[in-house]
Amino acid sequence: MVEVYRHDVVIVGGGGAGLRAAIAAVEADPKISVAMVSKVYPMRSHTVSAEGGAAAYVPGSEDSLEKHFYDTVKGSDFLADQDCAEYFVEQATPELTLLEHWGCPWSRNDDGTVATRPFGGMTVPRTWYAADKVGFHMLHSLFQHSMRFDRIVRYDENFVTRILVDDGVCRGVVAIDIRSGVMRMFLGRAVILATGGAGKCFPFTTNGTIKTGDGMALAYRAGVGLKDMEFLQYHPTGLPGTGILITEASRGEGGYVLNSEGERFLVTRDYGVGQKAELGPRDMISRAEILEIEAGRGLQGPYGEYVLLDLRHLGEAKIMAKLPFVRELARTYIGVDPVYEPIPIRPVVHYMMGGVDTDIRGATPIPGLYAAGETACVSMNGANRLGSNSLTECLVFGARAGVEAAAYAKGSADGNEARLRSEAETEGARIDALRGRKKGGEKMSVIRHEMQVSMERGCGVYRKQESMNQTVAELAPLKGRYADLVLEDTSKVFNTEVLQALELGNMLDVAESIAIAAAARRESRGAHACRDYPNRNDAEFLHHSMMFFTPAGPRLDKKAVTITRFQPEERKY
Ligand SMILES: Cc1cc2nc3c(=O)[nH]c(=O)nc-3n(C[C@H](O)[C@H](O)[C@H](O)COP(=O)(O)OP(=O)(O)OC[C@H]3O[C@@H](n4cnc5c(N)ncnc54)[C@H](O)[C@@H]3O)c2cc1C
Repeated sequence: MVEVYRHDVVIVGGGGAGLRAAIAAVEADPKISVAMVSKVYPMRSHTVSAEGGAAAYVPGSEDSLEKHFYDTVKGSDFLADQDCAEYFVEQATPELTLLEHWGCPWSRNDDGTVATRPFGGMTVPRTWYAADKVGFHMLHSLFQHSMRFDRIVRYDENFVTRILVDDGVCRGVVAIDIRSGVMRMFLGRAVILATGGAGKCFPFTTNGTIKTGDGMALAYRAGVGLKDMEFLQYHPTGLPGTGILITEASRGEGGYVLNSEGERFLVTRDYGVGQKAELGPRDMISRAEILEIEAGRGLQGPYGEYVLLDLRHLGEAKIMAKLPFVRELARTYIGVDPVYEPIPIRPVVHYMMGGVDTDIRGATPIPGLYAAGETACVSMNGANRLGSNSLTECLVFGARAGVEAAAYAKGSADGNEARLRSEAETEGARIDALRGRKKGGEKMSVIRHEMQVSMERGCGVYRKQESMNQTVAELAPLKGRYADLVLEDTSKVFNTEVLQALELGNMLDVAESIAIAAAARRESRGAHACRDYPNRNDAEFLHHSMMFFTPAGPRLDKKAVTITRFQPEERKY
């Protein structure tokens, strides 16, 4: 049996992008009703864990829209679509101001103006913050504001497994109600995917367990291309062992990165970051850390080699005022008090620049299907995202997708419900067959582990053609073995084993897209650093990669980059 729910717009995801899209949709049209379907309670979305801040030009400051635009495009290694990056910077300030009106307590200077901190790759300080718990405050403000609208109807703990496309048009989604195991069909004239990133394809990540690339895999199977998947951001300051993030704000507030000899190697050696030193962009600092470790200047710990982040010179008062959460995390998870000791750190998988292909409106090529936030690739981040641009991106493009989806929903007709119901029933049968599936002999944990190890080896901070090819070759058989999974739990109620199996299936598709796109990009650009091809090659590779699902296997294609103002130039700081 499939339960049917009808709304005008269906939003998948209750993180920063999903909530902002929902509010924009109901505000754009006083009659519209929105379903917000999320696999976790909205406040548990990964947005909540963001620490450092959100970027926007502060009027009257030394900053300008032009500078933010240029920094973003340069940070992207000239792969960003410049029309999108320009729209982003224009909308950033109104969005962050709006968030304050909804209750977000931005930290202030003594004179009452909005406080900003420097972030990597930015020419001036433009990162708004609320101490170092920014994601919590932003998500909370959005969530509270969304509750003012009865027309945003929440379906928490509903796991979306399929996008319904009929006659080439998106008509809704199919989901499992996690509590009861009942299948649900959410019909809508527009659907927005706001499902976040896919860090869990890797063994070592700052990402929460729920970040399994579901929306990317769903859109891919529905026929939308995945764009720029090879560009994966490693954050240079993760805690060894857990991968827990020590925010870039710790460098923004003046932290030093040291090797085993106590040397500030970003200052003393030439790693391309110039005067910016610790405030260089993430891709470059991650690479410098790996090279220091390879040169024998790392430290050895129980979880491999690492370097150090030193905050001691900031003093206890500043650490408690600006970075209290950093202190709490370091003490709790690695037993180090940064007031007295440097924090062990290493690069860790953090963010997906790539994702579901959309245009500047958040629209995918399938009519009625939109995407926003980390799951989408608009693209404004190109080959490398600048820290603190992502939270703002969720607001700017979440809002845009909400408005566009509401307008589209108003002007379009309902689909053929009988056909859609039959498709949803087929999906229900597929999931029923997974519960307690005894055929085959493959264990989920083994396949997941092999996938993660292979991804780390092939698609790390530095990549080699041979190891990327090897990862591509290893992933295809893993997908074959996935079809032989054995599951134990036959119950319908809170069957988390089935959900994990579905997530693993999604990750395998996403991982394969990352590896194939990476192996085909024979140059180094932004976060894609290939040892065999150390230089950027604009003549052959100044284009977006596009991965398409076909029954015969993934197909790689390309798409032109939109360049409006800034011609590609050498990226150095
Ligand atoms: C530790 C950490 C710190 C960060 N700090 C910063 C920072 O300081 N500044 C910055 O700009 N960026 C930061 N980022 C990046 C930024 O936080 C994220 O890119 C952004 O919050 C993503 O928001 P989102 O709305 O796209 O997705 P998320 O917040 O991840 O939300 C995804 C939503 O989709 C739902 N969902 C997923 N799959 C399904 C499914 N199958 N069915 C139903 N629902 C589903 C989930 O339930 C969830 O509600 C940080 C990231 C991390 C991991």
